[in-house]
Amino acid sequence: MKILFLDQSGKPGGAELCLVDIAKPYGQNALVGLFANGDFRKLLEENQIPVEVLTNQAIKVSKQSGLFQALGSLGQITPLINQVFQRAQQYDLIYANTQKALVVGAIASFLARRPLVYHLHDILSTEHFSNTNLRVAVNLINRCAALVIANSQASKTAFLQAGGKPDLVQVVYNGFAAKDYEADELKVRELRKNLGLDDKFVVGHFSRLSPWKGQHILIEAVSQCPSNVVVILVGDALFGEHEYVKDLHQKVTALGLENRVKFLGFRGDIPQLMAVCDVVAHTSTAPEPFGRVIVEAMLCGKPVVAAEAGGAMELVEDGINGFLVTPGKSQELATVINNCWQESAKTAKIANYARISASERFDGKIINQQIQELLKSIILNK
Ligand code: UDP
Repeated sequence: MKILFLDQSGKPGGAELCLVDIAKPYGQNALVGLFANGDFRKLLEENQIPVEVLTNQAIKVSKQSGLFQALGSLGQITPLINQVFQRAQQYDLIYANTQKALVVGAIASFLARRPLVYHLHDILSTEHFSNTNLRVAVNLINRCAALVIANSQASKTAFLQAGGKPDLVQVVYNGFAAKDYEADELKVRELRKNLGLDDKFVVGHFSRLSPWKGQHILIEAVSQCPSNVVVILVGDALFGEHEYVKDLHQKVTALGLENRVKFLGFRGDIPQLMAVCDVVAHTSTAPEPFGRVIVEAMLCGKPVVAAEAGGAMELVEDGINGFLVTPGKSQELATVINNCWQESAKTAKIANYARISASERFDGKIINQQIQELLKSIILNK
């Protein structure tokens, strides 16, 4: 089976990291076509996944764009569609991993007569997208896609509520290799020391810096915790959220937390950094489509506290394999963090159960097989 994967991003967000795991087993039978150059290309190359940057022109449409902007971009994407159409003839199917990839992939799949699969990593609702964007996406999917892989029940439900065809969609969670999250105790101790976290209770947050990812909620929460509780914020503004980053720094100063909140930027050593944490916090203020960091924290054996909305509710059972708090409520988050600190034995049991159950439920090998079966059936029925 030969697959042409498409992704609009040059930067490695959650959807892109998921694509690395899906494309890898196909080796030279895969090609990932990107619509931007950047660190994601390097990551694909490091994983020996064939990759080609198909355009050096940014597509000027955002999740909030209106109809005129969307139409205006059509001329701009014509050469890109042509590039994809040329490549598609050598592949059995087109696998679009992001929304702009869906638009380009849909037209190319029609021209090249290749089936189109769309991996839905988003909650298609007006909280995340403009009305125009939603309508274009759902219409294209309904007309052009042979299969939609939704990354959670929450993403599937939003797709159906937006008018998506029920018979197109299958839920497949992201897969992970549990062994990638095993930590070397010596290295962890060294890293903890280097980061100046030795005698601290460390709460980690792992996400790009963006208002809806809610790093500000965690900063507010830590100001309500005892002074030995500190935060590491791991991640950067991937999509131009520089104002938000400024706001976060100002908040830290205003609350006098300069010594208790560390900004570590985008990092490639997530398992090691999670290993230095005592708790991992997920604080999205809008429903999270899936929430890779929640599963990753579980695989690292760390207690995770997540905002109770979207995909996070499918991953976490409060008090069983983690903790859930109301999105946007810093006081509740502070209470859970304090409880984790004070009831360390009970918390460790929950984290250990989460590690074992997550390694079974999100086993990357099984999930890749599931996807492979789905793709095979699409090709056979074409
Ligand atoms: N991540 C990373 N480096 C960072 C911050 C985050 O590699 O500095 C990874 C994180 O481990 C996770 C992904 O980025 O695998 C984020 O995925 P998630 O589903 O949590 O959010 P998304 O970015 O898709 O909204």
